[in-house]
Amino acid sequence: MKVYGVFGDPIEHSLSPAMQNAAFEALGLEACYHAFRVKPSRLKEAIIGAKAMGFGGLNLTIPLKETALQMVQPDRTAKVIGAVNTIAFEDGIKGYNTDGIGAQKALERYGIQIRGKEVLIIGAGGAAKSIAYQLSQSEARVSIANRNPEKAKDLARKVGGKGFGLQDLGTLVPKAEIVINATSVGMKEGDPRLVDKTFFRKKQVVFDVVYNRETELLKDAAFAGAKTLDGVMMLVYQGAYALKIWTGLDAPVEAMEIAIREELSKR
Ligand code: NAP
Repeated sequence: MKVYGVFGDPIEHSLSPAMQNAAFEALGLEACYHAFRVKPSRLKEAIIGAKAMGFGGLNLTIPLKETALQMVQPDRTAKVIGAVNTIAFEDGIKGYNTDGIGAQKALERYGIQIRGKEVLIIGAGGAAKSIAYQLSQSEARVSIANRNPEKAKDLARKVGGKGFGLQDLGTLVPKAEIVINATSVGMKEGDPRLVDKTFFRKKQVVFDVVYNRETELLKDAAFAGAKTLDGVMMLVYQGAYALKIWTGLDAPVEAMEIAIREELSKR
């Protein structure tokens, strides 16, 4: 039985065990996936320990993704983004970041092409970095707006886009073809609205990386006639790419999506 795991702190609410165990079952693999609480100060030992114990692979989540960069051989994407969400042990300790490709694949599954599109990313944290890098690689025209505008400008410089503060959303949102919320705003009921509902327009695509609830941002965008997409399929596809790295197999994305939506409905 191969063991896989996700490390983070806190980790109790991770949806990855339900999703990856459903994937292993659908593929008929003798494997299991567990969540482990690991503090940043013990991460190196935990990674080396997992390799020594013959783990098949790891995922990393908050607050370990950036710390791990020094402890693995990162691929180009993980290196540029500065964060690792997947580790494989086949040949040394290799680090990857599948968040950005997960977001792109989620958009494509809904028939949304990226190339040449005017994309506005709200946020400049870990999720925003992965998405901005990936979509820029796929030739989108990327703008980034963040509460701290300096972080938006820094990220924009790295990916070849333009950086702004949130006060510019009134101009940026109406002209974007794809608007992506990559902040944590919307995870909790009562969170502030970052985008005034009058800024959305018909046929625009509005994607929120938040996956635990239908956010006010998505409700406002849908009311304006925009095509909306929550963060569940990004979560599925980032996991699907991790599974492909570990096993070489195409992931059963439907089974993974069902497992996540079932798990969310219990919470
Ligand atoms: P992070 O690195 O901590 O970044 C948080 C971002 O949110 C920053 O841009 C921050 O702005 C902004 N922000 C936080 N509170 C704000 C507020 N009150 N007003 C305006 N902006 C605010 O977090 P992360 O790892 O990028 O995660 C962000 C979200 O993405 C979380 O909800 C996470 O669950 C989700 N996520 C989803 C997936 C998926 O697969 N669907 C994958 C990864 C992450 P400042 O820079 O100004 O502080």
